[in-house]
Amino acid sequence: MNITARTKICMVIGDPVEHSLSPQMHNAGYAALGIDDQYVYVACHVDVKKIDDFIIGVRAMRIHGISCTIPHKIAVMPLLDEVESIAKKIGAVNTIVNEKGKLIGYNTDWLGVLNPLEQRTTLKGKTVALIGAGGAARAAAFAVVSKDAKLTVYNRTAEKAEKLAKEFTGEAFSLSEIENVKSADIIINTTPIGLDETNETLIPKKYITDKHVIFDAVYGISETQLIKDAKKQGAQIIPGIEMLFHQGFAQFILFTGYEAPAEKMVASLRGV
Ligand code: NAP
Repeated sequence: MNITARTKICMVIGDPVEHSLSPQMHNAGYAALGIDDQYVYVACHVDVKKIDDFIIGVRAMRIHGISCTIPHKIAVMPLLDEVESIAKKIGAVNTIVNEKGKLIGYNTDWLGVLNPLEQRTTLKGKTVALIGAGGAARAAAFAVVSKDAKLTVYNRTAEKAEKLAKEFTGEAFSLSEIENVKSADIIINTTPIGLDETNETLIPKKYITDKHVIFDAVYGISETQLIKDAKKQGAQIIPGIEMLFHQGFAQFILFTGYEAPAEKMVASLRGV
Protein backbone atom coordinates (compact mmCIF):
# COMPACT_ATOMS: atom_id res chain seq x y z
CA MET A 1 0.00 0.00 0.00
CA ASN A 2 1.38 3.35 -1.06
CA ILE A 3 -0.94 6.08 0.25
CA THR A 4 -0.11 9.73 -0.52
CA ALA A 5 -1.95 13.05 -0.11
CA ARG A 6 -3.45 12.50 -3.57
CA THR A 7 -4.88 9.03 -2.88
CA LYS A 8 -8.65 8.87 -3.48
CA ILE A 9 -10.73 7.30 -0.72
CA CYS A 10 -13.35 4.65 -1.40
CA MET A 11 -15.33 2.86 1.29
CA VAL A 12 -18.12 0.47 2.12
CA ILE A 13 -20.77 1.71 4.55
CA GLY A 14 -23.20 -0.45 6.50
CA ASP A 15 -24.70 -1.06 9.92
CA PRO A 16 -23.17 -3.49 10.72
CA VAL A 17 -20.20 -3.43 8.34
CA GLU A 18 -17.46 -5.27 10.23
CA HIS A 19 -18.15 -8.55 8.38
CA SER A 20 -17.62 -6.96 4.94
CA LEU A 21 -15.07 -8.53 2.61
CA SER A 22 -15.12 -5.58 0.18
CA PRO A 23 -11.99 -3.81 1.57
CA GLN A 24 -9.76 -6.88 0.97
CA MET A 25 -11.26 -7.42 -2.47
CA HIS A 26 -10.97 -3.83 -3.76
CA ASN A 27 -7.53 -3.14 -2.23
CA ALA A 28 -6.23 -6.38 -3.80
CA GLY A 29 -7.50 -5.06 -7.13
CA TYR A 30 -5.73 -1.70 -6.69
CA ALA A 31 -2.49 -3.49 -5.75
CA ALA A 32 -2.74 -5.88 -8.72
CA LEU A 33 -3.03 -2.94 -11.15
CA GLY A 34 -0.36 -0.89 -9.34
CA ILE A 35 -2.89 1.88 -8.60
CA ASP A 36 -2.76 1.53 -4.81
CA ASP A 37 -1.15 4.99 -4.65
CA GLN A 38 -4.26 6.39 -6.39
CA TYR A 39 -7.03 4.53 -4.52
CA VAL A 40 -7.54 3.09 -1.06
CA TYR A 41 -10.67 1.31 0.18
CA VAL A 42 -11.84 1.21 3.82
CA ALA A 43 -15.01 0.27 5.74
CA CYS A 44 -17.10 2.70 7.81
CA HIS A 45 -19.83 1.78 10.24
CA VAL A 46 -22.54 4.36 9.48
CA ASP A 47 -25.46 4.33 11.90
CA VAL A 48 -28.85 3.88 10.27
CA LYS A 49 -29.94 7.34 11.54
CA LYS A 50 -26.74 9.10 10.45
CA ILE A 51 -26.89 8.64 6.69
CA ASP A 52 -27.72 12.36 6.08
CA ASP A 53 -24.69 13.44 8.15
CA PHE A 54 -22.55 10.91 6.33
CA ILE A 55 -23.45 12.33 2.90
CA ILE A 56 -22.65 15.87 4.11
CA GLY A 57 -19.25 14.47 5.16
CA VAL A 58 -18.73 12.80 1.77
CA ARG A 59 -19.26 16.14 0.03
CA ALA A 60 -17.02 18.01 2.51
CA MET A 61 -14.18 15.48 2.32
CA ARG A 62 -14.61 14.67 -1.38
CA ILE A 63 -14.80 10.93 -0.72
CA HIS A 64 -14.49 9.32 -4.15
CA GLY A 65 -16.52 6.09 -4.11
CA ILE A 66 -18.96 4.40 -1.75
CA SER A 67 -20.38 0.87 -1.65
CA CYS A 68 -23.67 0.73 0.31
CA THR A 69 -24.90 -2.33 2.16
CA ILE A 70 -27.79 -2.93 4.55
CA PRO A 71 -29.56 -0.70 5.60
CA HIS A 72 -28.51 2.26 3.43
CA LYS A 73 -29.34 1.21 -0.15
CA ILE A 74 -32.75 2.92 -0.27
CA ALA A 75 -32.33 5.65 2.38
CA VAL A 76 -29.37 7.16 0.54
CA MET A 77 -31.22 7.69 -2.76
CA PRO A 78 -32.91 11.08 -2.08
CA LEU A 79 -29.61 12.48 -0.78
CA LEU A 80 -27.80 12.06 -4.12
CA ASP A 81 -27.59 14.49 -7.05
CA GLU A 82 -28.51 11.84 -9.62
CA VAL A 83 -29.61 8.20 -9.66
CA GLU A 84 -28.89 6.25 -12.85
CA SER A 85 -31.94 4.69 -14.57
CA ILE A 86 -31.31 1.00 -13.70
CA ALA A 87 -30.83 1.84 -10.00
CA LYS A 88 -34.09 3.83 -10.17
CA LYS A 89 -35.93 0.87 -11.69
CA ILE A 90 -34.49 -1.53 -9.07
CA GLY A 91 -35.25 1.05 -6.38
CA ALA A 92 -31.88 0.77 -4.61
CA VAL A 93 -28.35 2.15 -4.87
CA ASN A 94 -25.34 0.02 -3.88
CA THR A 95 -22.68 2.24 -5.48
CA ILE A 96 -22.05 6.01 -5.27
CA VAL A 97 -19.41 7.79 -7.34
CA ASN A 98 -18.34 11.36 -6.63
CA GLU A 99 -17.99 12.77 -10.13
CA LYS A 100 -16.41 16.23 -9.66
CA GLY A 101 -18.58 17.01 -6.64
CA LYS A 102 -21.75 15.44 -8.06
CA LEU A 103 -22.88 12.29 -6.23
CA ILE A 104 -24.23 9.72 -8.70
CA GLY A 105 -25.98 6.53 -7.53
CA TYR A 106 -25.71 3.21 -9.39
CA ASN A 107 -26.78 -0.39 -8.81
CA THR A 108 -24.39 -3.25 -9.60
CA ASP A 109 -26.14 -5.95 -7.48
CA TRP A 110 -28.14 -7.03 -10.53
CA LEU A 111 -24.89 -7.83 -12.36
CA GLY A 112 -23.89 -9.85 -9.30
CA VAL A 113 -26.90 -12.03 -10.06
CA LEU A 114 -26.84 -11.93 -13.86
CA ASN A 115 -23.17 -12.66 -14.57
CA PRO A 116 -22.79 -15.87 -12.49
CA LEU A 117 -26.11 -17.15 -13.93
CA GLU A 118 -25.05 -16.46 -17.50
CA GLN A 119 -21.80 -18.36 -16.87
CA ARG A 120 -23.95 -21.47 -16.18
CA THR A 121 -27.06 -21.16 -18.33
CA THR A 122 -29.12 -19.12 -20.78
CA LEU A 123 -31.90 -17.20 -19.10
CA LYS A 124 -34.19 -16.59 -22.08
CA GLY A 125 -37.38 -18.66 -21.69
CA LYS A 126 -36.33 -20.22 -18.36
CA THR A 127 -38.52 -20.12 -15.25
CA VAL A 128 -36.90 -18.50 -12.23
CA ALA A 129 -38.22 -19.07 -8.70
CA LEU A 130 -37.15 -16.07 -6.64
CA ILE A 131 -37.42 -16.55 -2.86
CA GLY A 132 -37.74 -13.22 -1.02
CA ALA A 133 -38.99 -9.79 -2.08
CA GLY A 134 -36.50 -7.36 -0.48
CA GLY A 135 -33.62 -5.35 -1.95
CA ALA A 136 -31.56 -8.28 -3.27
CA ALA A 137 -34.73 -9.80 -4.77
CA ARG A 138 -35.45 -6.56 -6.67
CA ALA A 139 -31.96 -6.64 -8.22
CA ALA A 140 -32.41 -10.34 -9.09
CA ALA A 141 -35.87 -9.69 -10.58
CA PHE A 142 -34.46 -6.93 -12.78
CA ALA A 143 -31.61 -9.21 -13.91
CA VAL A 144 -33.75 -12.18 -14.93
CA VAL A 145 -36.51 -10.15 -16.56
CA SER A 146 -33.91 -8.18 -18.56
CA LYS A 147 -33.00 -11.51 -20.23
CA ASP A 148 -36.60 -12.61 -20.88
CA ALA A 149 -36.79 -15.28 -18.20
CA LYS A 150 -40.17 -16.00 -16.57
CA LEU A 151 -40.27 -14.68 -13.01
CA THR A 152 -42.06 -16.34 -10.09
CA VAL A 153 -41.77 -14.80 -6.60
CA TYR A 154 -42.21 -16.58 -3.25
CA ASN A 155 -42.23 -14.50 -0.09
CA ARG A 156 -43.18 -14.72 3.58
CA THR A 157 -45.25 -11.51 3.27
CA ALA A 158 -47.60 -12.28 0.40
CA GLU A 159 -48.37 -8.62 -0.47
CA LYS A 160 -44.68 -7.92 -1.05
CA ALA A 161 -44.41 -10.91 -3.39
CA GLU A 162 -47.46 -9.65 -5.30
CA LYS A 163 -46.08 -6.11 -5.56
CA LEU A 164 -42.70 -7.30 -6.85
CA ALA A 165 -44.27 -9.76 -9.29
CA LYS A 166 -46.58 -7.06 -10.65
CA GLU A 167 -43.76 -4.57 -11.10
CA PHE A 168 -41.52 -7.04 -12.97
CA THR A 169 -44.30 -8.94 -14.78
CA GLY A 170 -44.09 -12.15 -12.81
CA GLU A 171 -46.32 -14.46 -10.80
CA ALA A 172 -46.55 -14.39 -6.99
CA PHE A 173 -46.76 -17.34 -4.58
CA SER A 174 -46.75 -17.71 -0.82
CA LEU A 175 -44.09 -19.74 0.99
CA SER A 176 -46.72 -22.44 1.65
CA GLU A 177 -46.68 -23.08 -2.11
CA ILE A 178 -42.89 -23.62 -2.20
CA GLU A 179 -43.40 -27.10 -3.73
CA ASN A 180 -43.98 -25.31 -7.06
CA VAL A 181 -40.23 -24.58 -7.29
CA LYS A 182 -39.91 -28.17 -8.54
CA SER A 183 -40.99 -26.98 -11.98
CA ALA A 184 -38.61 -23.97 -12.09
CA ASP A 185 -35.26 -24.12 -13.92
CA ILE A 186 -33.47 -21.73 -11.58
CA ILE A 187 -34.04 -21.09 -7.86
CA ILE A 188 -32.61 -17.95 -6.24
CA ASN A 189 -32.71 -17.45 -2.47
CA THR A 190 -32.57 -13.79 -1.48
CA THR A 191 -33.80 -14.18 2.10
CA PRO A 192 -31.18 -14.09 4.89
CA ILE A 193 -32.04 -17.71 5.85
CA GLY A 194 -28.71 -19.54 6.10
CA LEU A 195 -26.75 -16.42 7.05
CA ASP A 196 -26.21 -17.50 10.64
CA GLU A 197 -24.59 -20.83 9.74
CA THR A 198 -27.62 -22.83 10.92
CA ASN A 199 -29.01 -25.76 8.95
CA GLU A 200 -32.12 -23.77 8.01
CA THR A 201 -33.41 -23.50 4.46
CA LEU A 202 -36.75 -22.46 2.97
CA ILE A 203 -36.46 -24.94 0.09
CA PRO A 204 -36.84 -28.58 1.18
CA LYS A 205 -34.12 -30.79 -0.37
CA LYS A 206 -36.73 -33.13 -1.89
CA TYR A 207 -37.83 -30.34 -4.29
CA ILE A 208 -34.31 -29.88 -5.72
CA THR A 209 -33.13 -31.99 -8.66
CA ASP A 210 -30.03 -32.26 -10.85
CA LYS A 211 -31.85 -30.12 -13.47
CA HIS A 212 -31.85 -27.05 -11.23
CA VAL A 213 -29.44 -24.14 -11.00
CA ILE A 214 -29.48 -23.07 -7.33
CA PHE A 215 -28.28 -19.55 -6.47
CA ASP A 216 -27.99 -18.55 -2.81
CA ALA A 217 -27.39 -14.80 -2.30
CA VAL A 218 -26.35 -15.54 1.29
CA TYR A 219 -22.65 -15.99 1.96
CA GLY A 220 -20.73 -16.75 5.12
CA ILE A 221 -17.84 -18.72 6.53
CA SER A 222 -19.24 -22.12 5.58
CA GLU A 223 -21.70 -23.35 2.94
CA THR A 224 -25.38 -22.63 3.54
CA GLN A 225 -27.76 -25.55 3.97
CA LEU A 226 -29.34 -24.71 0.61
CA ILE A 227 -26.00 -25.03 -1.18
CA LYS A 228 -25.19 -28.27 0.69
CA ASP A 229 -28.58 -29.73 -0.31
CA ALA A 230 -28.22 -28.57 -3.92
CA LYS A 231 -24.80 -30.27 -4.17
CA LYS A 232 -26.21 -33.51 -2.74
CA GLN A 233 -29.01 -33.43 -5.33
CA GLY A 234 -26.55 -32.87 -8.19
CA ALA A 235 -27.80 -29.36 -9.05
CA GLN A 236 -25.53 -26.63 -10.40
CA ILE A 237 -24.70 -24.24 -7.56
CA ILE A 238 -23.95 -20.53 -7.31
CA PRO A 239 -22.89 -19.49 -3.79
CA GLY A 240 -23.42 -15.89 -2.60
CA ILE A 241 -19.72 -15.09 -2.72
CA GLU A 242 -20.01 -15.04 -6.54
CA MET A 243 -22.64 -12.31 -6.29
CA LEU A 244 -20.28 -10.35 -4.05
CA PHE A 245 -17.47 -10.72 -6.60
CA HIS A 246 -19.48 -9.73 -9.65
CA GLN A 247 -21.19 -6.70 -8.10
CA GLY A 248 -17.72 -5.72 -6.86
CA PHE A 249 -16.08 -6.07 -10.30
CA ALA A 250 -18.71 -3.73 -11.77
CA GLN A 251 -18.14 -1.29 -8.91
CA PHE A 252 -14.38 -1.40 -9.47
CA ILE A 253 -14.79 -0.02 -13.01
CA LEU A 254 -17.13 2.71 -11.78
CA PHE A 255 -14.63 3.77 -9.10
CA THR A 256 -11.40 3.56 -11.12
CA GLY A 257 -12.26 3.36 -14.83
CA TYR A 258 -10.17 0.15 -15.00
CA GLU A 259 -11.45 -3.36 -15.74
CA ALA A 260 -11.35 -5.32 -12.46
CA PRO A 261 -8.44 -7.79 -12.11
CA ALA A 262 -10.96 -10.51 -11.25
CA GLU A 263 -8.56 -13.37 -10.52
CA LYS A 264 -6.46 -11.35 -8.09
CA MET A 265 -9.57 -10.02 -6.35
CA VAL A 266 -11.01 -13.54 -5.98
CA ALA A 267 -7.66 -14.85 -4.72
CA SER A 268 -7.60 -12.16 -2.02
CA LEU A 269 -10.63 -13.78 -0.38
CA ARG A 270 -9.47 -17.38 -0.68
CA GLY A 271 -9.37 -18.89 2.79
CA VAL A 272 -11.19 -15.96 4.44
P1 NAP B 1 -34.20 -7.30 2.81
O1 NAP B 1 -34.46 -6.20 1.87
O2 NAP B 1 -34.34 -7.09 4.28
O3 NAP B 1 -35.18 -8.53 2.37
C1 NAP B 1 -35.22 -9.72 3.11
C2 NAP B 1 -36.22 -10.69 2.49
O4 NAP B 1 -36.10 -11.94 3.19
C3 NAP B 1 -37.68 -10.26 2.60
O5 NAP B 1 -38.37 -10.70 1.47
C4 NAP B 1 -38.16 -11.02 3.85
O6 NAP B 1 -39.52 -11.35 3.81
C5 NAP B 1 -37.36 -12.30 3.75
N1 NAP B 1 -37.15 -12.90 5.07
C6 NAP B 1 -36.42 -12.36 6.09
N2 NAP B 1 -36.42 -13.20 7.14
C7 NAP B 1 -37.19 -14.28 6.78
C8 NAP B 1 -37.57 -15.45 7.43
N3 NAP B 1 -37.19 -15.72 8.69
N4 NAP B 1 -38.34 -16.36 6.78
C9 NAP B 1 -38.75 -16.09 5.51
N5 NAP B 1 -38.42 -14.98 4.83
C10 NAP B 1 -37.64 -14.08 5.46
O7 NAP B 1 -32.71 -7.87 2.63
P2 NAP B 1 -31.82 -7.88 1.28
O8 NAP B 1 -31.04 -6.63 1.16
O9 NAP B 1 -32.69 -8.29 0.15
O10 NAP B 1 -30.77 -9.04 1.63
C11 NAP B 1 -31.20 -10.39 1.71
C12 NAP B 1 -30.01 -11.32 1.85
O11 NAP B 1 -29.21 -11.26 0.66
C13 NAP B 1 -29.05 -10.96 3.01
O12 NAP B 1 -28.64 -12.13 3.63
C14 NAP B 1 -27.90 -10.27 2.31
O13 NAP B 1 -26.68 -10.45 3.03
C15 NAP B 1 -27.86 -11.04 1.00
N6 NAP B 1 -27.19 -10.25 -0.06
C16 NAP B 1 -26.05 -10.77 -0.58
C17 NAP B 1 -25.37 -10.07 -1.56
C18 NAP B 1 -24.12 -10.67 -2.11
O14 NAP B 1 -23.29 -9.93 -2.68
N7 NAP B 1 -23.94 -11.98 -2.02
C19 NAP B 1 -25.86 -8.84 -2.03
C20 NAP B 1 -27.05 -8.33 -1.47
C21 NAP B 1 -27.71 -9.05 -0.47
P3 NAP B 1 -40.68 -10.34 4.29
O15 NAP B 1 -41.02 -9.51 3.07
O16 NAP B 1 -41.77 -11.21 4.73
O17 NAP B 1 -40.09 -9.52 5.41
